Amino acid sequence: MEHYKTLMKNYGPPAFNAVRGEGVYLYDESGKRYLDFGSGIAVTSVGHSHPKWVQAVQDQAATLTHCSNLYGIPDQQKLADRLVAQAGPGRVLFCNSGAEANEALIKLARLHGKHITGEEAKRYTVVAANNAFHGRTFGGMGATPQEKIQGGFRPMLEGFKFGELNNIESFDKLVDETVAAVFIETIQGEGGLIPAEDSFLQELRALCTERNAMLILDEVQCGIGRSGHFFAFEKSGVKPDAIGMAKGLGGGFPIGAIWVSEPYAELFQPGSHGTTFGGSPLASAAANAALDIIDDEQLIENVAVNSVRWHKALQALVEKYPDQILGMRGAGYMVGLVLKPEGHNLKITAAAREKQLLLVPAGQNVIRLLPALTANLKELAESVRILDEVFTELN
Ligand SMILES: *Cc1c(COP(=O)(O)O)cnc(C)c1O
Repeated sequence: MEHYKTLMKNYGPPAFNAVRGEGVYLYDESGKRYLDFGSGIAVTSVGHSHPKWVQAVQDQAATLTHCSNLYGIPDQQKLADRLVAQAGPGRVLFCNSGAEANEALIKLARLHGKHITGEEAKRYTVVAANNAFHGRTFGGMGATPQEKIQGGFRPMLEGFKFGELNNIESFDKLVDETVAAVFIETIQGEGGLIPAEDSFLQELRALCTERNAMLILDEVQCGIGRSGHFFAFEKSGVKPDAIGMAKGLGGGFPIGAIWVSEPYAELFQPGSHGTTFGGSPLASAAANAALDIIDDEQLIENVAVNSVRWHKALQALVEKYPDQILGMRGAGYMVGLVLKPEGHNLKITAAAREKQLLLVPAGQNVIRLLPALTANLKELAESVRILDEVFTELN
């Protein structure tokens, strides 16, 4: 398909125009229906056009869309209360995307460094992980040590170091008196669906506490129920000092957020940070509606229960096609199949699309399956059936 002549070319030509969505299905202009296991990259958490979500967004759009943060926004306060109830005592700040959430978290880490040393620009290093992805802004890119992200845009924002995920010794060496925060994804998404192990998170928590560095978790992709827990770190028992959220939070409407524990939450004071759009009445209503649906329909339980059978069926594919699939990893409705040979993830993504199943490729030759949290056993089984066909034809 030809690119429109007036769009920048930072994305390649699309395979089709998407014009409508319903539940786990996305439709193109000709009415062709795709089983959408990309969910707009882990965004449409309650499925496309969920009637209750649509109603809430329509009602809010007709009442008040935007007013700026110069005025109180009751729905925003309600949303913050809910996130605090989930994450623990602290405060929430809203923005519009994952990269913006991470940008605010990096600024917060610098304020923490200033607070404990009494001096600016003395203790500001952020230790992130190799193979991470934290977004496309200068803060996010700086924390994303990959040539394909950073290439052409140097000099990068300074003040980042990188440890090896799930290797506590490598972080132990890096977290010294110059470090303000450790910043990692609980489950690496773009990098290839690599979970931080519970024991690693626990050791990292102890290390950060001992050295007075904040532990910040990027849950932009794995958070809001996708892992089978509200936050993916909950399973480890670890309590982070701050959390970044975005993708699934708004159920399809752009919204990002950070939760920060007390006393770090006091670091942002009037004037420290701001946003014109963040947490608008419309965005907050959309996110509250998404969280209502997640609660009412017990979608986190849905993910936790259904993913057991789904993972078993995917694991059977791993065993059936050893020449194409090296393994499966991830959690809940955030699963990756590691393929071979190099580049096979792109080939499988295209072949699956031909059979009306949408996937998202990720780093390390992975195909990612990210269904809506509403996906039922039948829809999950359908994804496995289509993949089975795709792998058979390419075997
Ligand atoms: C997608 C993603 C981001 C960036 O979010 P945007 O909304 O695209 O800015 C940051 N961190 C993680 C873990 C992500 O998956």
